[in-house]
Amino acid sequence: MNVIKNNTAELQKMDRAHFMHPSTNMRQHADGETPNRIINGGKGIYIHDTEGKETLDAFAGLYCVNVGYGRTEIADAIYAQAKELAYYHTYVGHGNEPIIRLSERIVKSAPEGMQRVYYGMSGSDANETNIKLIWYYNNILGRPEKKKIISRWRGYHGSGIMTGSLTGLATFHNAFDLPRAPILHTTCPHFYWNAEAGETEEQFAKRCADDLEKMILREGPETIAAFIGEPVMGTGGIITPPKGYWEAIQAVLNKYDVLLVADEVVTAFGRTGSYFGSQHYGIKPDLITIAKGVTSGYLPLSGVIVGERVWKVLEQGSDKMGPLGHGWTYSAHPVCAAAANANLDIVDGEDLTGNSAKTGGYFQNLLRETFADHPLVGEARGVGLMAALEFVADKDKKERFDPNLKVGAKVSAACLERGMIARAMPHGDILGFAPALCITTAEIDKVVDIAKQAVDAVTDELAAK
Ligand SMILES: *Cc1c(COP(=O)(O)O)cnc(C)c1O
Repeated sequence: MNVIKNNTAELQKMDRAHFMHPSTNMRQHADGETPNRIINGGKGIYIHDTEGKETLDAFAGLYCVNVGYGRTEIADAIYAQAKELAYYHTYVGHGNEPIIRLSERIVKSAPEGMQRVYYGMSGSDANETNIKLIWYYNNILGRPEKKKIISRWRGYHGSGIMTGSLTGLATFHNAFDLPRAPILHTTCPHFYWNAEAGETEEQFAKRCADDLEKMILREGPETIAAFIGEPVMGTGGIITPPKGYWEAIQAVLNKYDVLLVADEVVTAFGRTGSYFGSQHYGIKPDLITIAKGVTSGYLPLSGVIVGERVWKVLEQGSDKMGPLGHGWTYSAHPVCAAAANANLDIVDGEDLTGNSAKTGGYFQNLLRETFADHPLVGEARGVGLMAALEFVADKDKKERFDPNLKVGAKVSAACLERGMIARAMPHGDILGFAPALCITTAEIDKVVDIAKQAVDAVTDELAAK
């Protein structure tokens, strides 16, 4: 009997009836009003679907498929490890070879002073681990009141109860009773929108640091445990820090004995053109969050890299507290670790970090040149292989579009019509790019060409109204 080849319609019907999607309008999806695309393969920077359509993915899934689609070396490593040992827990001192090797290579490639890696399955759970470790740390130090965590408006740190609270985007809070105490949000370091007239980048960075200091003093430094930030903001709109920002922020944190968490879920493993975003911007974090790029999404894996200052206290704490009362069943999963090692072999062996710097540099220049004088584009920005276009109604007056026009979503749809995925970011009218780190300059030319056609088409459409 022949297997039915194109069963898309049947799958779509089942999907709409039984599958609950993230970030999807549930009613419209159930009623068949919004597209339902079923992806069934990919190679390099392209994905294809069950209807035979091929699309250039200029966002690498959710900025995670850093080595590109269809790398059989990773699939082979997963298969080999699953045959040998698919699972054993890592509680009470148990280990497995792939996770031990992975830990050594991560610590050795991480910024100075990093000591150990604690594993989870998602960026969100890794940030939950961060908060628990920070609270534990202050309890061991006998400072039970030092518990508040400062994050930033438009920061993204996950979708859980604590991590969704750290996230500074309304869509992740509304109707979920978030954010929850004890989390505070400080100024978003977006120079384009938030700088005052005449302010330089350095002056703006200083003002962000002053805002942070005022918040710490208002709350009482003895209550502030940590500051969390992405070296470059991702989901909040791909926002690079203004000059001098991290230096100024770190000076304030050091003054009040506040720990620094660098959420490198997007930036680690090459995305900025440096191996870690912290290395790119001279950040000296106490804890680092990793996820997406560690396996290129081939299997779920996340981690918290623990630096010296925290590690020493945690280690001492064991004598007082006993074994660490924090564990996930799938912490340090051997098959995920095998995927991560095979993935990092590609990242390192093909120098994808170098490509991110080189091809990324080409991308940044081309994007700025192409859109510098475009009436719809207020700002073209980014670093390495992450970039964004910010659309404005009036470029000279810096005025936003009415959100109901959904200009960002329109440009993203116009890209898709032309065979390319670029992501309409959830806040404002922003089109995001974060292609696989193996992308070539010829492919970048294509990305920017399609983006230009799409932006032009939406500009014409808006003018015709
Ligand atoms: C994606 C992301 C997370 C959350 O990761 P999940 O695996 O989706 O839970 C956390 N922080 C940053 C910076 C991210 O981009």
